[in-house]
Amino acid sequence: MSYGPLATVVLARNHPVKGRGDQGGKATGYGSLRGCPGAGPIPGPPRLSAHWLDSLMTRISRRIGSITESATLAVDAKAKALKAAGRPVIGFGAGEPDFPTPDYIVEAAVAACRDPRWHRYTPAPGLPELREAIAVKTLRDSGYEVKASQVLVTNGGKQALYNAFAALLDPGDEAILPAPYWTTYPEAIKLAGGTPVIVETSEASGYRATVAELEAVRTDRTKLLVFVSPSNPTGAVYTPEQVAEIGRWANEHGIWVVSDEIYEHLVYGDAEFASMPVLVPEIADTCVIVNGVAKTYAMTGWRVGWLIGPDNVVKAAGNLQSHATSNVANVSQVAALAAVSGDLAAVEEMKVAFDRRRKRIVELLSAIPGVDCPTPEGAFYVYPSVKGVLGKEIRGRRPQDSADLAGLILDEVEVAAVPGEAFGTPGYLRLSYATSDADIEEGVGRIATLLGEAR
Ligand code: PMP
Repeated sequence: MSYGPLATVVLARNHPVKGRGDQGGKATGYGSLRGCPGAGPIPGPPRLSAHWLDSLMTRISRRIGSITESATLAVDAKAKALKAAGRPVIGFGAGEPDFPTPDYIVEAAVAACRDPRWHRYTPAPGLPELREAIAVKTLRDSGYEVKASQVLVTNGGKQALYNAFAALLDPGDEAILPAPYWTTYPEAIKLAGGTPVIVETSEASGYRATVAELEAVRTDRTKLLVFVSPSNPTGAVYTPEQVAEIGRWANEHGIWVVSDEIYEHLVYGDAEFASMPVLVPEIADTCVIVNGVAKTYAMTGWRVGWLIGPDNVVKAAGNLQSHATSNVANVSQVAALAAVSGDLAAVEEMKVAFDRRRKRIVELLSAIPGVDCPTPEGAFYVYPSVKGVLGKEIRGRRPQDSADLAGLILDEVEVAAVPGEAFGTPGYLRLSYATSDADIEEGVGRIATLLGEAR
């Protein structure tokens, strides 16, 4: 039996993944929630049993059946549900700043709500004034000069990625994706008919893919490279030299680069953000930048992102969007306009807090026996290895992989973290430190107490 598009490189490599709770009655979520009525297990990427595939395929298309729920959103939803049920859960799951959206942005949205102009459809590719402001902001922040027509306003960075892959990939095209990768990339690539080709990077290289590693997986079907710096989930930041080297390699081989710059402002210490088409202008015609207001302005819920690319790609992606979603909510676009037109004071303030928390969470996690936590240079995640505690007995259970361990931690001490399985590298946990200092102390303290019992 052939599963067609299901036979992707990701699956063929048989990454150890946890199953959904709907497979043969086996409870395989990241954790059950004892004492919390109505809260089910967190679904993870599916274990591909023939039974599950067969039952799924009678109802659900292969294309949609081959993708999985966002594990990061699932962990976050579970933590929020527990909290709503009155449990003292601490959530390190979601990648969202704990700060409110700055007042001047909210005020712009309030005024927009009252203006009937914004109660109607507007152009599907985005408000002209917002596209213009994004072009201006891009030149200010990364030094990349683009026209407003090269900007497509999307429903968050996620839709920008989805549109970019849909516009660029044909069935059979390969997309190189360094791992650990953000959980949405492989699914968005598969939805577009492409095949993710995973390049595993290691702690030793600071999770930065080298040209040699990329070259080793290049084939005549390679269409694009997904590049993200600072990275989710590792917080790795490529040096400008490395960015340039990869850009030159892509240009030499006619490989498109989808460069995710959503964490551009969140770099710490000596790390430096660099935009690939600025360092290697030759790739401008084969490069799509993805960005958004979510992380920089604490606006995850407003759902405004954008892509920047060559005119024909932006037009094609805009055509797709015109049928899929039409314009992004006008009130949110007006809020985003206030955000990108304003200064960067708010993100500078948040960065001070994130930097303090980054150092503290690394310190706390590193003190736990069996946990190895490198210091990230960007974004707001730590990605410690927990391999040292796997297979040991903790409160009568023996977690065999990081998904088991994440479930155990949630069950026993009510702390939510996302297991490495969601990012293509089992054996790790991702914790977001875009949460309060007090929660970091309490949450990591609970993990330390629990893992301290490992025998
Ligand atoms: N890219 C990366 C690397 C991310 O981590 C995220 C959010 N987690 C996004 C894009 C998308 O952000 P949004 O859709 O909220 O704009």
